[in-house]
Parts: sequence; C-alpha cells; structure tokens
Amino acid sequence: MKLGSTMLPHLPWRIPPAAIALLVACVSGAAGEGFSLDQTPGRLPRTAVPLHYAIALEPDLENLTFAGSELIDLDLREATSRLVLNAADMTLTAASIDGPGASAAIALDAGAQTATLSFAQPISAGRHQLRINFTGRINRFPRGLFVIEYREGEGMRRMLASHLEPADARRVFPCWDEPAFKASIGLTVTLPRSLRAISNMPVAAEEPVTPALQQVTFAATPKMSTYLFVLVAGELERLSAQVGETTVSVLATAGKSEQGGFALESAAELLRYYNDYFGLKYSLPKLDLIALPGVFRSAMENWGAITFGESRLLFDPAVSGDAARRTVFIFLAHEMAHQWFGNLVTMAWWDDLWLNEGFASWMEAKAAEHFFPQWRTWLSAGAGKNGAMNLDARRTSHSIEHPVADEGEAMAAFDGITYAKGQAVIRMLESYVGKDAFRAGIRRYMAEHAYANTTTADLWHALEGASGKPVGGIAATFVRQPGVPLVLAQSRCEDDKEHIRLRQERFTIHYPEAVPQTWIIPVTLGLPDAAQPSATILLGDEPADVVGGRCAEPLKLNLGNVGYYRVDYGEGRAGMRKTFPLMPPADRVNLLTDTWALVEAGRTQARSYFELLSEAGNDEDRAVWDEVMSTLSRLDHLARGRAERTALEAYARHMLRPVLARLGWDPKGREREDNEVLRVRLIRVLGELNDMDVIAQARLRFAAFRQDPALLRPSLRDAVAHVVGVNADRDDYAALLALARKAGNGAERTRYYSAAASARDAALARATLALALTDELPYALRTSVIGTVASAGEQPELAWAFVRQNFALLAQRQGPSFRDYFVASLMRNFSEDARAAELAEFAPAHATSGGRIMAARAQEAILIDAELKARVLPQLAAWLQARGTPD
Ligand SMILES: [Zn+2]
Repeated sequence: MKLGSTMLPHLPWRIPPAAIALLVACVSGAAGEGFSLDQTPGRLPRTAVPLHYAIALEPDLENLTFAGSELIDLDLREATSRLVLNAADMTLTAASIDGPGASAAIALDAGAQTATLSFAQPISAGRHQLRINFTGRINRFPRGLFVIEYREGEGMRRMLASHLEPADARRVFPCWDEPAFKASIGLTVTLPRSLRAISNMPVAAEEPVTPALQQVTFAATPKMSTYLFVLVAGELERLSAQVGETTVSVLATAGKSEQGGFALESAAELLRYYNDYFGLKYSLPKLDLIALPGVFRSAMENWGAITFGESRLLFDPAVSGDAARRTVFIFLAHEMAHQWFGNLVTMAWWDDLWLNEGFASWMEAKAAEHFFPQWRTWLSAGAGKNGAMNLDARRTSHSIEHPVADEGEAMAAFDGITYAKGQAVIRMLESYVGKDAFRAGIRRYMAEHAYANTTTADLWHALEGASGKPVGGIAATFVRQPGVPLVLAQSRCEDDKEHIRLRQERFTIHYPEAVPQTWIIPVTLGLPDAAQPSATILLGDEPADVVGGRCAEPLKLNLGNVGYYRVDYGEGRAGMRKTFPLMPPADRVNLLTDTWALVEAGRTQARSYFELLSEAGNDEDRAVWDEVMSTLSRLDHLARGRAERTALEAYARHMLRPVLARLGWDPKGREREDNEVLRVRLIRVLGELNDMDVIAQARLRFAAFRQDPALLRPSLRDAVAHVVGVNADRDDYAALLALARKAGNGAERTRYYSAAASARDAALARATLALALTDELPYALRTSVIGTVASAGEQPELAWAFVRQNFALLAQRQGPSFRDYFVASLMRNFSEDARAAELAEFAPAHATSGGRIMAARAQEAILIDAELKARVLPQLAAWLQARGTPD
C-alpha cells in the first residue's frame, strides 16, 4: 500500500510503521457489502418483485378524493398464496390475479401501511398480473397527492401535485414502496381539460372523455423506485429549450413562466455539464422544472419532473437580488444531480440515504464553483460543514450510514449529518484521490449500476478501482461511525525547526461518556499562506511526527478547510493567531470555526476566540464575516434577558460596523459580487443588534420604497424589510402586511410576511400568530411565521404557548410533519433546562419514531445552549470589561 501524498522537499514527514499497520488492518474488509435484494433492509417480503405498474387515476379536485386501478406485472420468486404490498390512507375495493377468477381477500394494516392479499389457491412461481382497484384521498398538505390553492388576481385557483419521498407513493397507488423494488410505470389520468398534466415521462396520448374531462396517457418510465413517481396538474405555462435530445421546460402558474428564464438557461448548462461528468447522458426524453406556489420552500427530484417551491425556481431581477439567483442555481444543481445520483442509481434502503443527499450536496457546490467561481461556493460551504460538525459532536448524532428501521426514521435521516457531513466527506475524498480519478470512479459506478440499486460499498469499490487508493478504508471510519475527529498538534522548537506531534481524539460537546474512536484522517498541512498543502498524512491511532519549517513559521493543518476534522493547536494557538491575516480565507474560516468549537466543547476559554477575532478587523471576505456574524448572533440570542447582553451587543456592533462602513450602503463603482451579499447580511444582523444608524437608514429607505419601489434596489429589499420588521411599530407592521398581500410572487410574499413576523413587539407577535390560523397565509408560511416569531421575533414563549393551545387545529391543517418535526424545531429557540424537560413531556412530539428522534435532538440542543450561556457569557463579559467597553 502506498500512502497518497504530495510532498515538497523542504517539508520532510513520516508516518510511524505502527500507523501503517493499523491502516492496512482498517482497510481490508471495512467497506461493507454491495447491493443484493435479499440483504437489503425493509419490511416487505421479498417473495414478489414488481416489474411494471399500469396505473389509471381519476382525481376529484372538488371532493379531494381519487379513484384508481392498476395492473401490476409481477415476478413471483416462489409459489405463494399471500402477497404483501404497501397501501396507506386508501381503500382497496378489489384485487385479483391473472384474470377476474382468482380474486383475493384483502386485509389492510394501517400501522404497517400494508395490504395483504390472500388467495384461495397458491400462485405458482414466475410471471403474473395483479389487478387492484382502489380509492384514496387528496391531502391539503404535501404528502401523497395533494391540492394547492393559490391566489391569482382576485380569485383562488386549484392545482394538484404529489410529494412521495420517502414513503408516500403508497398513498397514491398500492405498490412495493421500498427503493429497492424498481419497476417501470405507465400512467393514465383523467382530469379537467383546463389543467395541464405532468408526470415523469412525456404525454403519449390525450383524448377528450366528456366536454369537461380529458384522459392523458404518459409514456412508460424506465425501471425506477416508487418514491420518484410524480403527478402535477394545473393551469401551467411552459417555457422550453432543447438540449441535445432532451426538452427542458420550466412550468409555472399563469404570468410567471418568464421568471423561469434564469432557471431554464442554467438547467441547459447543467444538463450538458452533468452529461459529461457522469459519462452517461440524462436518461429521459424530457426534464420538467415545476414551480409550485405556496406549498414548500424546498424541492423534490422526481425523475423527469422536479418540483420546487416557487422561490427556489423563479427569479425576477426586478424584485430580488443576487442571493435569490444563487439559491435558484444551487437548488437546480442539487436536484438535477439527483437525476443520476438517486434516480438512475438509487440507494437500496434509507440507511444509505447519504449516498443520494451527500452526493447531490457535493455536486451542487462543485457545479456552482464551475459556472460561477466568483460566488466561491466551497468557501461558503464551510459554514454548512461547521454546522454538521457541531451536530456530530453530540450524543444524538448518528453515523452517515446508519440503521433506519422504518419510514418515520427515514424522514428523520434528512438532516445536517446526511447532507452537510456527506458533502464534506465526499469533498475530502475527492481531494484525497484527485479530481480525475474521482470522476473516473463515478463514471464507472454509474455505468455499472444504471437503473439499479447500490450500497455505499459499491461506491467505494468503484472509486478504489479507478484510483488505486484505499478509499473504502478511510471512508468507512467517517461513514460508519458517528462523531468528529480532533487532531491535536503539539509543537516544539529544536534546531530552529518546528517539530510537530499529531495525534487524534474524539471531539465531543457536552458528551463526556462518548466511546473513544479512531479515524483514518487525511491530514493536510503547510505554511499558513500556502495555497496548496505541502503534505498529506494519513493519521491513524498512533501519533505522527512531522518536522516543519523554521520555528517562527508554524504549520497550519487542514489547509483549505477541506478535511472533516477539528484541530487544536494547544500552546501553538498564539502562533496561529499571529499568522491569521496571512491565511487564505478558507483557512481563516477554518481557524475561526475550530476555535469556537473548542470554546463550546470547554477545551478553551471564550477569550481564545475573541482574541482571534481581533485579528479579523480588516478582513474583506464574506465567508469570514459570515462565520463571525453567526457566532455573534448565536451569543446574542442566548443572551436574551441576561445582564451581559448590552455589552455583548455593543461589542458586536463595534466589530461589524466598520465592515459596513467600508462597503457603504451602496456600491462605489464596480465591486466584487460577494460584497453585496455581505452588505445585505451585515444590515440584517446590525439591525437585530440594535444599531441605531442601521435601523434609521433602513426606515428611511423603506419609506422611500413605499413612495416609489424604484428607489430601493432589489438586493437590499429583504434586509431592509427585515430590519424594519424586527423594530416594527404598528404602522410599519401594517405596511409590511399590505406589501405581503399584494406581492407578485412567492419570494416577495415570503419577504414581507417574514419581516412582519420578526417584530419583537409582543402585541405584533400575537397578531402574527393569529394570522397563522387563517387561510390568508399559504401552507408553508403558516409554520414558518410561527418559527420566525420565536426566533427573529424573540418571542418563543408566546409562540410555544400558541402552538400548545391550538395544537389540534394546527396539526390537522399542516399534516403530520407539524407534530413530528415542527414542534421540536420550534423548541430549539429555548435555552433553559426546564424547556427540554417540557418537550420530553409533550406527548404528540413523541408519537412516531421520527418524532422521537427529532425531539431527542432538540432536547440535547437546548441543554447544550443552557450550559453554554451559563459558562461562556460571563467569560465574555469579563473579557470585555478587562479590555474596556467599546462604543
Ligand atoms: Zn436532495
């Protein structure tokens, strides 16, 4: 085995033989098993394997029900008289096999979400056709088939859509609803003629049934997992472009398709880029990008017809700034990457969800970096990685690849560990094996597993084959165990040379009984101002000794912030601080985030972080200030109602004001694109920190905007509305609501309702909460304004009391996610032990397996915050007092 490294002659390094032995031991057999249906977890028997579904649906948008029938081609692997498949919230009216003669007795199990079909005679092994008739319901929240009611002009309109991940195809048609059961799907749907119907494949035939109804038949899909099925129908406009053999379209409600121009242009570029990167062309004849009004702020990668919350797809430069455009691109890049990674090649079971999400998250950043290098997406992604590392240092963390017992747990797997840790680990591995070898491995993986399923082991196998490096052994230590490694660097000076001893520990926050673990860490190091690492060391459980340059030139570890580990320089911290201004921005962000994490973990005093911050005064990089603002805002939030808050806010303003002063409220001539994004965030944060000048300036500009919108440039509007909202009086509040009510698109509507919900005035907060019970707000905004009242509005007590009081009604209107996820996320706005106990006793939050996971995570987060504020705020106050209060 050869250890991968690049080495400059001036920097000798070595790895002790014992560490190499450990690496070999870890590498062999550590990567796990490849895909086989019988080894795949899941709850359905493996006796029957579906090959093709021919589905007919008749949705009734007035009564919110639907009728359906399906003919399923099956392969029985052995003779049986009993078939078990998934069905939920539906009635099966008839089931028969191979013709009407052999009909089945039907038993539904609501808890298991299955239908068991029992036949009088055993059915032989081999091919059969199963016919099922059924009826189901159309929801008002995004689960299964659902209706969207949206405003158009003076009236309300209705459209139909679906959302099936992870396990809600079973609410639309009875099926083998586990990702490993791939089958082709043909769909015929009967709908009002005024609606345009969209599914995974293009329309094959359309014929009128009555003067009001039409029947639309879609071409059959290739083999696919059921969670990727889609049906949307509405009064939609289409904007299309041709890319090779693929028709790409943006679809939006009347009058909005023009706002899809940027998305369409980007999608065409991305399609060419991905066709090349994956080495396999996009597999379907068309790709539709559908903007759904009001239902969610996320997106879903349904094969061939991706659904987006409107503000994630549409962009109107007349009302939104560059940040909104970046969001559109990132969402698009993510969901389009899934068309290969997830849709064409699919994880076998939800325990490998990270294969989908970690990879799509990595690809979104890689694509953004390729097309818009000026956005410096990887630099910003440091914040996401840092967030994942904070979660991963806790008791309630989980390994990237982790057992998922049921669908409730699968839902809880869509979290920061799966996305951001997955993204970071993949980036670290790409950096370790090299970009070309990594791409060759991905191409091999796609070619070998197209239209099939995989496990994580299949990916490592392909990457090892292409690179010849022990990827699986390294990756296993990051993917199959939870937690964050901490590299301790102990340096001493000898013969004017820096001698560094590296060793590792498990990094935890508030989790003293954590089991010790070892990783194989590709540790990069070099001089602080180096763009490229001078060396890469695979650090195992034996310490490694490195001889660096001259003593006055300490070595920086984790160069470029590419690795998934924390670093503690111990006594070398002061030396690092001195070189801080020399470092590239990614390394400055890395040092700041690691130092703050050490504070949170109780490994160093708060002073270490704030002394480092003193070196940041003249920094010009957005990512650096983003990190600083996140930490200061977090502390400010924790200091609510405490004596330390006044001094803390004065200090935070003292740090941030000069940055805004340098940038000004308006660009001076041509400037870096990033400056506007930084400026906008500074305005928001300073407005929350009671900066009187910023608040006054925001009010002034808001007043001018109300006279003439042209007087406030689009990119400043979110921030100005937010600052006015946080500090709103009754008139400001009324003005924000009036703007929200006449907003022309989802992004504007969200901007003004969110700004109003940020009001810190208790009476206004109550008014916002009352609004959440009315039909005025679209679905997604009802819960988001309650969350905003608790967070930016600083009224978590009011928001929580409101939720408890109206729980039944809110849960009924918002669907199960309200009970399972929203309650826990709302409670994270508290930082008192008693609130963690209260959440533990709130029964609805513990009703499902997913809910219990979310509640346990929130309880731990509350306890960590309670401990942090009790320890760190007094340290900060003492430090501020010692240096003399600014302002
Ligand atoms: Zn995704």
